[in-house]
Amino acid sequence: MRDIQMVDLKTQYERIRSEIDDAIFSVINSTAFIKGPGVKLFEEELQTYLGVKHVISCANGTDALQIAMMSLGLKPGDEVITTNFTFIATVEAVALLGLKPVIADPEPGNFNLSVKEIRNAITPKTRAIVPVHLFGQCSDMDGIMKLAREYDLLVIEDAAQATGTDYYFPDGTTKKAGTIGNAGTTSFFPSKNLGCYGDGGAVYTNDDELAGKLRSIANHGMKMRYHYNDIGVNSRLDTIQAEILRVKLRYLDQFNDARRAVADYYDKAFEGCSGIEVPVRESYSSHIFHQYTIRIENGKRDPLKRHLEENKIPAMIYYPGPLHMQEAYRYLGYRESDFPVTDKLCKTVLSLPIHTEMEKDQLDFITKTILNFFERNQ
Ligand SMILES: *Cc1c(COP(=O)(O)O)cnc(C)c1O
Repeated sequence: MRDIQMVDLKTQYERIRSEIDDAIFSVINSTAFIKGPGVKLFEEELQTYLGVKHVISCANGTDALQIAMMSLGLKPGDEVITTNFTFIATVEAVALLGLKPVIADPEPGNFNLSVKEIRNAITPKTRAIVPVHLFGQCSDMDGIMKLAREYDLLVIEDAAQATGTDYYFPDGTTKKAGTIGNAGTTSFFPSKNLGCYGDGGAVYTNDDELAGKLRSIANHGMKMRYHYNDIGVNSRLDTIQAEILRVKLRYLDQFNDARRAVADYYDKAFEGCSGIEVPVRESYSSHIFHQYTIRIENGKRDPLKRHLEENKIPAMIYYPGPLHMQEAYRYLGYRESDFPVTDKLCKTVLSLPIHTEMEKDQLDFITKTILNFFERNQ
């Protein structure tokens, strides 16, 4: 059995090595390291895949959030509602621009922002909602878009963990995660479902005017060569990463299917085990399992994690602490007890190894080791 890893990028590389090596060396040979033709081609190919009018690439997923919020004209003091249970980047981008992060609890089952909690957090100063499609499954976008229309709010979807996830609207239409709100953002961090071999990110939109603004903001606020309309940033996807992403985009559906097969295997293996709550799959979204995250109650999560480590099985806690208790965000004035759902999730979640190269013997070993733990710790 190969060593088990949370994400096995090496084995994946070995599978697609010749295409990746060709892509990298073609850029080196051209020396068009920045703004080479592959960047535009990748943006167009991702537009086609997502069914969105504009993809504007940038340096990483955190920049993508910042560029989106700058381009939408949010002003200091504006309130932006986002989830307490996510990677720090989301709330960081809000705070960095002088906007006020307003934190809300997620749903305990699907880990995504609760529409009811968003509604409770709306004030006259609210300007935007940033749902995060956590672990590969969409937030309740039908509910969020209705709320946004009711209160005239902007919606920026953080789709960093959901590249390729489908959202199913009640009227039968389907849209890709990140293409539903005013803007969507993503990250091509190596371990994401569509990951490059370094840093990368993008913003999506169907709004032509906003697309122009996004492009300008990501490029020093430049409209025409050496004419600056906005204070912008310098945030680029380099050509080597773009060419790698062009190769990996062709495999994305196949890779997402491979992750889903791992999730199905886990679900089935844990079916009869009352100590494990498997991920909830909502009927309104597909799930591409950026993470396969189970919940373990009764204080057994940490002992299980140790048991797995003793057996050389990695497992991670995404996320160990709520955002509102982080030192940097104390100024927001939340009390420790304000977010019971996030608190509970931080104490009970455990993400198991999942990637595109997992083998049957590895899955067998992981599930048997976990079930063994529960048999011995009834
Ligand atoms: C990874 C991630 C980001 C940040 O992406 P970077 O490319 O690392 O800046 C933002 N939001 C979420 C939900 C993420 O998972």
